[in-house]
Amino acid sequence: MIRVRMAPSPTGYFHIGSSRTALFNWLFARKNKGVFILRIEDTDKERSKKEYEDDILKSMKTLGLEWDEFYRQSERSGIYREYLEKLIAEDKAYYCFCTREDLEAERESQTAAGVAPKYSGKCCVLTEKEIKTNLEAGKPYVIRLKIPAEKVSFDDMIRGPIEFDLGLVGDIVIAKNLDEPLYNFSVVVDDILMDITHVIRGEDHIPNTPKQIALYRALGRPEPTFGHLPLILSPDRSKMSKRYGDVSIKEYLSKGYLPEAIVNFVALLGWHPKNDKEIMVLDELVDEFDIDRVQKAGAVFDIEKLNWINRQYLNALDEENLTEKIRGFIPADWKTNAAMIEAIKPRLERLGDAAELLHVYFELPDYDGTLLFWKGEDRDTAGILKKLANEIETAGDRFDLEEITAKIMSLVPQDKKGDYLWPLRVSLSGSKTSPTPFELLAGLGKEESLRRIKIAIEKLGK
Ligand code: GLU
Repeated sequence: MIRVRMAPSPTGYFHIGSSRTALFNWLFARKNKGVFILRIEDTDKERSKKEYEDDILKSMKTLGLEWDEFYRQSERSGIYREYLEKLIAEDKAYYCFCTREDLEAERESQTAAGVAPKYSGKCCVLTEKEIKTNLEAGKPYVIRLKIPAEKVSFDDMIRGPIEFDLGLVGDIVIAKNLDEPLYNFSVVVDDILMDITHVIRGEDHIPNTPKQIALYRALGRPEPTFGHLPLILSPDRSKMSKRYGDVSIKEYLSKGYLPEAIVNFVALLGWHPKNDKEIMVLDELVDEFDIDRVQKAGAVFDIEKLNWINRQYLNALDEENLTEKIRGFIPADWKTNAAMIEAIKPRLERLGDAAELLHVYFELPDYDGTLLFWKGEDRDTAGILKKLANEIETAGDRFDLEEITAKIMSLVPQDKKGDYLWPLRVSLSGSKTSPTPFELLAGLGKEESLRRIKIAIEKLGK
């Protein structure tokens, strides 16, 4: 039975990078009919915040990445303590009372001697009596793991064999004290107790893996299979900056990217299916997903691609659904209709753009009457607008795009399109750029269209 986990530290909002790790684990679990675990790694009391945890849970749910089991490390401190004590009792870990000054002096002398700095293991040889005296005196300590100077290797699911010389590492600190385990330790204890079979996480964790393997060995347990996902790179291939990968999912949602589009985009950060298909919802991703196809090379984050994917999803929505989704992004008193929605749909990249695109239907800006002149010349603009108004007046109740287009066009002489359609469009929108006059008419409806044309005629002093 495959068991994987997403193990976020609630020290920031859930961002693109974390969503990619969550998604790949989730897909791997679903694909293999395994179990997907969410484990909140909140042992760092200063940096962990409830607000961030809430955001992680909410974002994962919004993206559709439901978990089968849930744990919170802060509720498991007794367990870590037990394992720390066990390692100490078995002489695999030890109390270290070295002060910061001691360690600095040690590092300096090692550097001066031209050797790579690592902890000397000084406290490893303390007698039981010395330890007891120090503890009773309340001397601050940390707990270190004895790291044997040996080579470890693992076969990374994505990167292939990786070898590491533990001899370079020195005895690592695994806990600040018995009640404050550090990341490498609590993660291994939990991965063991939760029967994690595959650890899939970002490439930035590769340096932790040998240390964690040392811990598995100390605890006498086989290590899981590791897979390290490629870095997410900025478009210039530098390491992802705040502008992109660290942007929270929350922020993308608030700009009006659809959760399906985000998931689809994130899935393609370092992976692509056999057939190079690009638009895939979660179910299709489960069918297509194959961890062997995850690339080693960094995955470039391209916002244009996200925009394109989002457009595909928006375009696929029917009018009713799109209206529903747009609602949260426009003022509550804007009552949209089908014609407006259809008109803006092809131009809509994010739901957040809807307000700007729909604005024209709800507010007529003040404009200069000369803007009504086609190519700056007044060739009976008012007369033309009156003619158009009369035609619109006779339109039936349907007043839809098709009907109104046919009606207006029946009036417009072939060689005078600009003379008619330009002032019509400006009168309806009050600006140089807007949807077509027909889209405006259909969206505004008869009454409002006539009102606006009347204002235009008045501007012309007629
Ligand atoms: N809490 C770690 C993080 O957020 C988890 C790393 C891991 O998956 O082991 O980076």
